Amino acid sequence: MKLVFAILIGIFSSNSFATEASHANTDYSKIQKQHTARILQQKSTNEEILKANCKYESDISEKPPAKKIALTFDDGPIPGHTEDILAVLKKHQAPATFFIVGEHAKAHPRLLELILSDQHHLIGNHSWDHPNFHELTVTDQLSEITKTESLLQETGEKLFRYPFGNSSCEANQMVKSHNYKIVGWHVDSCDWAFSQNGEMNIADRALCGVTPENIDDYVGHVVSQIKKRNGGIVLLHETHRYSIMKLDELLTKLEQEGYQFSSILDKEFSTSLK
Ligand SMILES: [Zn+2]
Repeated sequence: MKLVFAILIGIFSSNSFATEASHANTDYSKIQKQHTARILQQKSTNEEILKANCKYESDISEKPPAKKIALTFDDGPIPGHTEDILAVLKKHQAPATFFIVGEHAKAHPRLLELILSDQHHLIGNHSWDHPNFHELTVTDQLSEITKTESLLQETGEKLFRYPFGNSSCEANQMVKSHNYKIVGWHVDSCDWAFSQNGEMNIADRALCGVTPENIDDYVGHVVSQIKKRNGGIVLLHETHRYSIMKLDELLTKLEQEGYQFSSILDKEFSTSLK
């Protein structure tokens, strides 16, 4: 299995994210490798073992409220991207939660203010520099969270999402003891796997469960994944220009399919938060 991992990760790492790197000081190829590593390990490990370690439980197994969607955008804020996302959300009157990376928020405080200037939106803590929590001590995990918390000045409910969704029982305990609600997702858009041209390589298709009719069709793929769950918390990222360009089309299609956009703090999502 290790060899398969190494080969697959080699394939994934060949995807070019060089153009994205210009938007922030983040190594997106590294982030993509972590995403693929997560899905590969999740798929190849016994469910009971994952459960016992509270690993990867960011993938919410419980049913979401029917026909309700809570949009979430991770890894920002990013100049040029955040503004475009906000404009599309406004057009559709869709509330969203932005899971903020502390070092990006420090670099772009104006964008944080812009998000919060629309009362429909929420911000959540997504660590300081997006490390893999499975590789950190609890002390280092806590400092990732508190450093970002001091910047976000969250009011109301404190929300946290694990980078890559990489939870553990120990970390869960620590995060909850600091009064955070942990937010996972029902639907992973796999936006990170689509290239600038909207294409996806064969290995990613298999990992993301892309069916033949949705090959190279980002919107079609995400809608099909949402239909499978009949709604839910949707994981999206601020990092990818292509999926941001497609956001208006995605939200329009979802509205046509009879879905409604809700806040993550709406009562009907309360059982989805930990
Ligand atoms: Zn992230």
